[in-house]
Amino acid sequence: MGDVTGFMKYSREDFPKEPAAQRLKHWKEFTNSMTEEELRRQGARCMDCGIPFCQGGCPIGNIIPDWNDLVFRGRFPEAVERLHKTNNFPEFTGRVCPAPCENACVLGINKPAVTIKNIELSIIERAYEEGWVKPAFIKIRTGRRIAVVGSGPAGLACADQLNKAGHTVTVYEKNESLGGLLRLGIPDFKLEKWVIDRRLKRMEEEGVKFRTRVNVGADIGAKELTDKYDAVVLCGGAESPRDLSVEGRNLKGVYFAMEYLVQQNRVNAGRMVDSKSRITAEGKNVIVLGGGDTGSDCVGTANRQGAKSVKQFELLARPPKERAVHNPWPQWALIERTSSSHEEGVARDYGIMTKRLSGEGGILKKLHAARLEFGAQDSKTGQSPMKEVPGSEFTVDADLVFLALGFLGSVRGGLLADFGVELDTRGNVKTGKNKMTSVEGVFTAGDMTRGQSLVVWAIHEGRAAARGVHDYLMATTSSLR
Ligand SMILES: Cc1cc2nc3c(=O)[nH]c(=O)nc-3n(C[C@H](O)[C@H](O)[C@H](O)COP(=O)(O)OP(=O)(O)OC[C@H]3O[C@@H](n4cnc5c(N)ncnc54)[C@H](O)[C@@H]3O)c2cc1C
Ligand code: SF4
Repeated sequence: MGDVTGFMKYSREDFPKEPAAQRLKHWKEFTNSMTEEELRRQGARCMDCGIPFCQGGCPIGNIIPDWNDLVFRGRFPEAVERLHKTNNFPEFTGRVCPAPCENACVLGINKPAVTIKNIELSIIERAYEEGWVKPAFIKIRTGRRIAVVGSGPAGLACADQLNKAGHTVTVYEKNESLGGLLRLGIPDFKLEKWVIDRRLKRMEEEGVKFRTRVNVGADIGAKELTDKYDAVVLCGGAESPRDLSVEGRNLKGVYFAMEYLVQQNRVNAGRMVDSKSRITAEGKNVIVLGGGDTGSDCVGTANRQGAKSVKQFELLARPPKERAVHNPWPQWALIERTSSSHEEGVARDYGIMTKRLSGEGGILKKLHAARLEFGAQDSKTGQSPMKEVPGSEFTVDADLVFLALGFLGSVRGGLLADFGVELDTRGNVKTGKNKMTSVEGVFTAGDMTRGQSLVVWAIHEGRAAARGVHDYLMATTSSLR
């Protein structure tokens, strides 16, 4: 620890953001970095705790105090080496991770936490700029062949790890482009897509093979893959969206959030979308149902398209502004969060139940809802009973309704049916400790086994599956830690 009183001398400074009115005019990322001097002061705030709760709070166990200190000392090449020890893609997490590490940071007990995520991003971007992220030369090849199905962060982390261990890896992806939700779900204003291409180029240079537009389970069968490869890892995500079964659901103007977000990402990438199927919020009254991140991404997208009004309705009660007593540090703080998309303009409302949708000539015009009230929280389940407030019905104008109500796990049939893997009680692919499914030699990772989660958890999962595969194939204690 370089500066023992750094946390008393310096206050937390976040990356400056372009003002909302300006950033709404484009689709690019809008945060600016800091000078090295400023960043070193942020690194100096780290107390190098005896028990670094940040590291425990990070799903991939990033060695955070080490790189905070190395940044403080200006030793960036060593910092990036430490970063890559636990994280294959810090340029993704440094942009989109909700930073559970910062929630768990000890400094966060009574002061703003260390800016861990910004430090992570600064280290990796500096490393790319300086040419320190070089393709690794794989000296020994094991002769083992592995197929990874799905190119989201779980599939990519798994492929990267296995390739670096000397196995020959081919990634199959059903879409036209690689990256999973990083590419087609998360909007460009949170993660520009050249960031993914830059990493994919490194991986290709290191020997990972990619095959796009191959829908495993349809274009190519499970048998063909298991015959051809020594192991298969299923990383197909949790793509089954939760629907809203109310009258009017089938009106034109009601879409799943992913139908909307994927289309805009394709448009941004220069792909043609037929004008009849184009979903645009320009000049329209938009209502996003669901208060999570996917909903927030719809808000940012609708505002950039020039929506007339944007509302976001959440079924559950408004979370508190501060941690509640039963939600102490270092737990993930269950508080109301304001994303950069919210800052750009939205009317958020909570405890709203959509009762029906109505329209004219098959086209959506109105959303009809009622307010909910919540009883005391059950100490065992943590849930609060909810009931409709009598006489609270209201109607709002709606040209577009986006359903961002969460995901129900992986798409059944197709891939999963073809492999015949067992599912758990939540409908996710069931695994043992080493990430093998109920089918010998077939492994799984990411949202497909965890349910819709986070990029950082997908990376953790992909790395864990790679260890499982490596141990299985080499019948030895894994060196992939
Ligand atoms: C709109 C949205 C925004 C999000 N924002 C964030 C965020 O800001 N921060 C964060 O940490 N997390 C975010 N998440 C969650 C995060 O993106 C996911 O948890 C993560 O991408 C899961 O990674 P994965 O590799 O398991 O699956 P995915 O990223 O879903 O990748 C699965 C891939 O498998 C492919 N595939 C599926 N079936 C087949 C098949 N049969 N054959 C071939 N390929 C197949 C799919 O096409 C896809 O490319 C967001 C999620 C959504 C929906
Ligand atoms: S918990 Fe916070 S202050 Fe402590 S080592 Fe981690 S980043 Fe530094």
